[in-house]
Amino acid sequence: MSENGTLLQVANLRKHFPIIGGMLGRQIGTVKAVDDISFDIQRGETLGMVGESGCGKSTAGRAILQLHKPTAGQVIYDGADLTTMNAEVLRVLRPKMQMIFQDPYATLNPRHPVKKIVGEPLVIHGMMKKGSAELSDRVAELLELVGMDPAYMRRFPHEFSGGQRQRIGIARALSLNPDFIVCDEPISALDVSIQAQVVNLMQDLQEQLGVAYLFIAHDLSMVKHISHRIVVMYLGKVMELAERNTLFDDPLHPYTQSLNSAVPVPDPKTERIRKRFILKGDPPSPANPPSGCVFHTRCPLTVERCIRVEPEFREIQAGHFVTCHLADESGSSKIPEQSDLS
Ligand code: SF4
Repeated sequence: MSENGTLLQVANLRKHFPIIGGMLGRQIGTVKAVDDISFDIQRGETLGMVGESGCGKSTAGRAILQLHKPTAGQVIYDGADLTTMNAEVLRVLRPKMQMIFQDPYATLNPRHPVKKIVGEPLVIHGMMKKGSAELSDRVAELLELVGMDPAYMRRFPHEFSGGQRQRIGIARALSLNPDFIVCDEPISALDVSIQAQVVNLMQDLQEQLGVAYLFIAHDLSMVKHISHRIVVMYLGKVMELAERNTLFDDPLHPYTQSLNSAVPVPDPKTERIRKRFILKGDPPSPANPPSGCVFHTRCPLTVERCIRVEPEFREIQAGHFVTCHLADESGSSKIPEQSDLS
């Protein structure tokens, strides 16, 4: 990870969506998809973001990029607040912040050849002319960068495998020399054998180009190898944030402990005897979140206070933040081994 300092600060970010219903089409409720989240991202860093489906991680990524206008909070990019910026200034900054999507096939226009797909952002932002030799050279360079033959620029998306299509999506995202990319579940739709190749490619590109990633995934095993730090989300809120090794070796939030216990261990002997904490039930609806701690309906350690009082997002040890009343250095928030959850 680069030591060049903070690239992005997310402060008390919220994104709420109105629920419209009834004959008159009135607002009858609110979905708190992202509800008061704060963290920073360093230059050249990968911040993994993990949580079950519907926890708000994709909305958070889009709100950071201002693809969804935040309801409240700040996103400070390189010293400037994106949330108060006018559209013209934001357009100038846009090339620096890109996105890679889960399903590359759905985001690559099937009627366009790779050359147009990868080169299009350069044309749209007026950096190169359509049909120019310079544009062809840049597309060839980008394809080589992601490990593809430049001759493929004349082919169409359906001619490629899922992994190759994700490489094309990455080449497109890199075309404008971004310094930050939101990677929204970029490996979830790929075969396990291909996932590692794409992760390795993204790590190599980060080393070469110094780009920072917000790497979104639904389980911890997918972010384990690429992340420097990891943020765990539940029902629109951050439950825990820590350095990667701390999060795996000493998770303090009961939800993280449950997610961590589901990560397979390579040693078959350890894998056989390891304890798993499987949560009961599904996450509640973000349209009707529980009182107090949003995790209390599934937490094996819930005490009366958890139902009444919302815990703060607190720094327990340097760089290790947890949203749990019980979390402290003595391990009071650890799920006991003999828990009947497993
Ligand atoms: Fe569980 Fe209470 Fe901690 Fe929430 S605050 S995670 S319910 S122990």
